[in-house]
Amino acid sequence: MVRELLEKARELSIYTAYNTNVDAIVYLKGEMVQRLIDEFGADAVRKRIDEYPRQINEPLDFVARLVHALKTGKPMAVPLVNEELHSWFDSHFKYDVERMGGQAGIIANLLSSLDFRRVTVYTPHLAKKQAEMFVNRPNLFYPVVENGRLIFKHPREAYRENDPLKVNRIFEFRAGTTFKLGDETITVPFSGRFIVSARFESIRIYTEPELRPFLPRIGEMSDGAILSGYQGIKLRYSDGKDANHYLKKAKEDIMLLKREKDVKVHLEFASIQSRELRKKVIYNLFPLVDSVGMDESEIAYVLSALGYDRLADRIFTYTRIEDTVLGGKILIDEMNLELLQIHTIYYIMYIAHADNPLGEEELRQSLELATTLAASRASLGEITSPDQISVGMSVPYNERGEYVKLRFEEAKRKLRTKEYKLVIIPTRLVQNPVSTVGLGDTISTGAFTSYLAMLKEKGEL
Ligand code: AMP
Repeated sequence: MVRELLEKARELSIYTAYNTNVDAIVYLKGEMVQRLIDEFGADAVRKRIDEYPRQINEPLDFVARLVHALKTGKPMAVPLVNEELHSWFDSHFKYDVERMGGQAGIIANLLSSLDFRRVTVYTPHLAKKQAEMFVNRPNLFYPVVENGRLIFKHPREAYRENDPLKVNRIFEFRAGTTFKLGDETITVPFSGRFIVSARFESIRIYTEPELRPFLPRIGEMSDGAILSGYQGIKLRYSDGKDANHYLKKAKEDIMLLKREKDVKVHLEFASIQSRELRKKVIYNLFPLVDSVGMDESEIAYVLSALGYDRLADRIFTYTRIEDTVLGGKILIDEMNLELLQIHTIYYIMYIAHADNPLGEEELRQSLELATTLAASRASLGEITSPDQISVGMSVPYNERGEYVKLRFEEAKRKLRTKEYKLVIIPTRLVQNPVSTVGLGDTISTGAFTSYLAMLKEKGEL
């Protein structure tokens, strides 16, 4: 079933933008964390954890947020705003792997490796090293304007010598890793990663002015668009531009993509530390897109930005399915989304309005494909061909699967759900994932493209 659905999805042409970067990965060991704590002293680390810095300005901010992430076992991303810390990181860590990062880059490589008909990826900055991180396949294209005309090149052929390069440092941690914070022994409860994301002036999220007039053509050529990277917008830039400027452009981009044909647009939401920016992204962009994907902690942040603080707090504290369903209903209604997909470690959920052209069983299949792809990626580290879907098919559902279904049925009975289509499936969870980077993007890509494939089959696309 999952295999056939992937076959159908592979016939699609997809456009994806905006964020790419190089991920420099460190596989964290207990001794490495211990060394950092000893360097700064347990008391100083503890104190800084309590202050909970939202950005990394100095090394202790990093150590504090890292230790906090390890203690909870939750994946987190914190922006690095002080460019001078590059050398501190480079002198303290040796990177085990360098690979494609950024949602648009990860999604482009995934779709291209899955042999989709045509994958067009756009990223405003394409340095040589960045370009080399794209898979070398003939179905992958980068739009270039030459002599006033739109042409497509492979990203490796389209790089620009002087473009800035964004390097994110990713600290992968494993469940069971232990270290001491003073007298306290900490054992990491879940595998995951801590991301130090570079946020510098030179990196902007936008479509270059020469390319913008061609967005309607790109939209027309595509069956769907997956947009992400808005978390990289800064509230203010030294040249006087601000988040409002870039969000206005981002809105126009979506409208341009949809001008010739109402191409379906999926927005992949990633955590945004600044409440102000988070709110702007939600209010400006959600109403323009058809589909949104996010993880459980993100829905809580989104609800809090929309003013539903009590519900958000409940989701943070208890992570009850019932509250997530309620939050999802609020979101698709207030933003008038066609489809909302929420992924968590134990389950993935779709919430749509009752008039959605797909039935609940079809929506379920779409989520099946999503979790199976993620399980393949978690097992292999990277998906390099469509037949690797079979790896994910042999990964069992997580041990809480039955419990999840029960709780979901209970939630459906309690809440008014007649006006909605609501579907949940347990995740296929890999015990010792090779990597957890990009799993959420993989889920959203598998979900959205298979959704489109089924719409297309029904003549609804
Ligand atoms: P995100 O936090 O957006 O990157 O999404 C991560 C998602 O990947 C989780 O919500 C899970 O559904 C999935 N995932 C995480 N760990 C694993 C694993 N070990 N095996 C399979 N799927 C996973």
